[in-house]
Amino acid sequence: MSDEKDTTTALPQSCVRCGALSLLRVVGRCAACIGEMGLSYPPDHKAWRDELTREVRPE
Ligand SMILES: [Zn+2]
Repeated sequence: MSDEKDTTTALPQSCVRCGALSLLRVVGRCAACIGEMGLSYPPDHKAWRDELTREVRPE
């Protein structure tokens, strides 16, 4: 009785913001974009934070 699917494969996926392939993404954005948004694009960073909050806490 083992019908568990293996979903642990880590494949690089494109960042929705800059399009770069990245293994480390949070809500679609790569780590580089997250850092850049935090430093230079506060509105983008806030939008990303809001998305993250919704994803973690759907209410
Ligand atoms: Zn990016």
